Amino acid sequence: MSMQKVSNLMKPSAFDYIRVETLDEALSVLADSDLEAKILAGGQSLLPILNMRLAQPKALVDINRLAALQTLEQLPANASTGDENGRSDGTLLQIGTLVRQRQLERYAAEEPRAKLIHTAITHIGHPQTRNQGTVGGSLAHADPSAELPLIFLTLGGTAFLQSTRGERQVTAEQFFQSYFATAIEPDEMLTKTQWKLPAPQEGVAFKEYRRRHGDFALIAAACTVTLENNRAVRNVRLGLGGVSATPVLVAEVQQLAGERLTKERARAVAETAVKQFDFPDDYQASSAYRQQLATVLISHVLAAAYEDALAKEGTHAANQG
Ligand SMILES: Cc1cc2nc3c(=O)[nH]c(=O)nc-3n(C[C@H](O)[C@H](O)[C@H](O)COP(=O)(O)OP(=O)(O)OC[C@H]3O[C@@H](n4cnc5c(N)ncnc54)[C@H](O)[C@@H]3O)c2cc1C
Repeated sequence: MSMQKVSNLMKPSAFDYIRVETLDEALSVLADSDLEAKILAGGQSLLPILNMRLAQPKALVDINRLAALQTLEQLPANASTGDENGRSDGTLLQIGTLVRQRQLERYAAEEPRAKLIHTAITHIGHPQTRNQGTVGGSLAHADPSAELPLIFLTLGGTAFLQSTRGERQVTAEQFFQSYFATAIEPDEMLTKTQWKLPAPQEGVAFKEYRRRHGDFALIAAACTVTLENNRAVRNVRLGLGGVSATPVLVAEVQQLAGERLTKERARAVAETAVKQFDFPDDYQASSAYRQQLATVLISHVLAAAYEDALAKEGTHAANQG
């Protein structure tokens, strides 16, 4: 472990810089409440926050040398990880917290079952920010408009939190708690996450609207759909980002189960679903504009995920025949 005093001749207020070589070192620094340490991962969100003095931690603990947190692997399905209704067969993608967004993007480009992750991740910032930004950093930062939190929630999964007190697991639904707030306690570190990969025949879609390339989404939507043999919807899961303090799952879409989806039905469900949100009015967009945008994005991702499921079903049937 090496420690350096960083002077106040720079934009952030002064802090101790602590570079750790092992997970135990990192956890013992976090356990010392006098240090009030914050974890430094890719620094793509933390450093701007420090520069603007929105946070003034006494110490930064740099975890970038912890190679064990940089692994990415698929874990095969087992009885306890499968979902009802054919939504995911339980195959998990396990992502170490320090996996760079670019590393996940490259992996997902080659893995058909990670298509939703790939589509979403290419919307994050720029190649330069994705080279440096980590998957765990994005989840821990918990920006309500960020793509990775939205996909983690939509696919479902588990976050692993470690401290000197031990390890605990929280589901994606429990992980995001409010604006930039998660279930991670001050002495805990997010070490890895497990994401439920869609089943091979599951339809997926992602859409977002942002004002300029590289901006955060104004609103983003992600959807997964499985079908019955008669092409009716069996299970549908739809997540929205940028509409409230955390990414949210939209329960109203469940009413589509048992139906063959039409664009008109998708639109009707979207119009009902958006009524629950209190869309903000700010310099970026009016409340009415956001409501209209959310309606359009929900109906579009529903239709696109359904089309994707139909296409995959056709490919699957052809392969079987
Ligand atoms: C120009 C620009 C454009 C961007 N555009 C987008 C965008 O469109 N969409 C998007 O989603 N993001 C965007 N980002 C943010 C980017 O994705 C960040 O990489 C990400 O939010 C944070 O990841 P990081 O590894 O850089 O974390 P850091 O900045 O190092 O840390 C972020 C926060 O998470 C905490 N943290 C980090 N790792 C852990 C851990 N393992 N356990 C507990 N706490 C931890 C830190 O203490 C800090 O509070 C953009 C960033 C920039 C600079």
